[in-house]
Amino acid sequence: MTKVLIVASEGMPFVKTGGLADVVGALPKSLLAVAVDVAVMMPKHSKIKAEHEAELKTIYASTIMLGWREKYLGIQTLVKNGVTYYFIDNEDYFGGPVYLGGDAENEQYLYFCKAVCEALPHIGFDPDVLHLNDWHTGMIPFLLKEQYGHRYEKPKKTLFTIHNIKFQGQMSFEFMSDILSIPPRYYIPTLLEADGCANMMKAGLVYADKISTVSPNYANEIMNRYFGMGMEGILSARRQDVSGILNGIDTVEFNPEKDSAIAENYSANDIRGKLSCKKALISEFNLDIKTTTPIISMVTRLTSQKGLDLVQYVLEELLHEDVAFVMLGSGDEVYQDFFNYIAAKYPANTGVYIGYDEDLAHRIYSGADFLLMPSEFEPCGLSQMIAQRYGNLPIVRETGGLVDTVSPYNRYTQEGDGFAFSTFNGHDMLASIRLALSVYRDKPVLRRLKRNAMLNDNSFTKSAKEYKELYDRINHE
Ligand code: ADP
Repeated sequence: MTKVLIVASEGMPFVKTGGLADVVGALPKSLLAVAVDVAVMMPKHSKIKAEHEAELKTIYASTIMLGWREKYLGIQTLVKNGVTYYFIDNEDYFGGPVYLGGDAENEQYLYFCKAVCEALPHIGFDPDVLHLNDWHTGMIPFLLKEQYGHRYEKPKKTLFTIHNIKFQGQMSFEFMSDILSIPPRYYIPTLLEADGCANMMKAGLVYADKISTVSPNYANEIMNRYFGMGMEGILSARRQDVSGILNGIDTVEFNPEKDSAIAENYSANDIRGKLSCKKALISEFNLDIKTTTPIISMVTRLTSQKGLDLVQYVLEELLHEDVAFVMLGSGDEVYQDFFNYIAAKYPANTGVYIGYDEDLAHRIYSGADFLLMPSEFEPCGLSQMIAQRYGNLPIVRETGGLVDTVSPYNRYTQEGDGFAFSTFNGHDMLASIRLALSVYRDKPVLRRLKRNAMLNDNSFTKSAKEYKELYDRINHE
């Protein structure tokens, strides 16, 4: 049986800033169900210390060298839901924010990459394959091949998964080499250099045995210049090694039948409870609307990737109609300011919460009728799948994983489980919203679409089997 260690910068149920954590939380459980011997390694962030200190067992404490610096390395472990977690402990690096930003963040995760390699012999779990996620883990394939190879009888194999190619971990080569002791001969365009910088994502893409990303459609898109963000060359060159495996959601955490965070439970077969959730949402945001008014929602990071410029462009036009808008998000100030302005100007039919709140996210998914996700690009996207599970129909732009997960409403067959538009344009989005609102008034069709959405299998079960096959292939090649 192939032994797999999943390595990531964040993961549920411990620390989450975005979809990566959802995946790192849900995938191991599904892998156990298809008999993969799996464990997880991540930094011991301050939140983990605050909430789990009593459960953690220290299994190693020593120091490692980062160039001339001697740094503490502790390894702690705990078991949750049958999965063993290993935490890299160093309070200098992980005692504060999950991502420090700038070169401080680069150093944080250069340390993490080296610490993972140093930790492997000391954890009592000897993985065949390391499943690495995003640029924060990008130097691990390089280190294992170039600096740690001699330590293992059988070389450690690696799978590098791209969750978002936009973030690459760029820095000067002097900075990187000073920390990881890398000779200048590696700083060439076929290895660590990209666009005049040392690049951790590039290192992962060059040195990993296989590469995957989180949806089949995004796997094709990133071979092209528009989506590839400078990595399209290396990805095209390694086309044979790249696959797209669709993310799933945690169907236990996101389950309208059992969810304790929502006003009333409901299911695809008996959706009546959703009305109580809608009423609760209306009163939570003090909206002055009827329960028959459609509610369009967003649960999102506030960043241009999420298509917020389109929302900014047409939202006011929409808000003069019989429709309400509820938004939960945090991020760029320019969008926060915009949504606060909208909430102040249209208090009767707009609800805005700037911040991060998981329970509120559940209440919005369950209480709203539509989820707007007009992303400029979207590697996979989880919000649209979560929304579907709660009978909240996604309105998406056809990009990345949104193409793989939403079947747009077809007015001729009257089938589908959401709505979609293709051109990144505010009025195309508005037309798609208007189509959704017209379906909203056609109750039998609306019911069918909601049911379709809720019955979608958005779990990790199928993808876990694909990962298992990929791990086995990597291990035996
Ligand atoms: P990304 O990883 O690009 O942020 P995804 O759609 O893949 O986007 O995943 C986003 C996840 O984060 C979903 O589980 C969504 O519900 C959650 N989320 C996003 N913003 C917030 C927020 N402000 N509060 C609570 N949950 C949020």
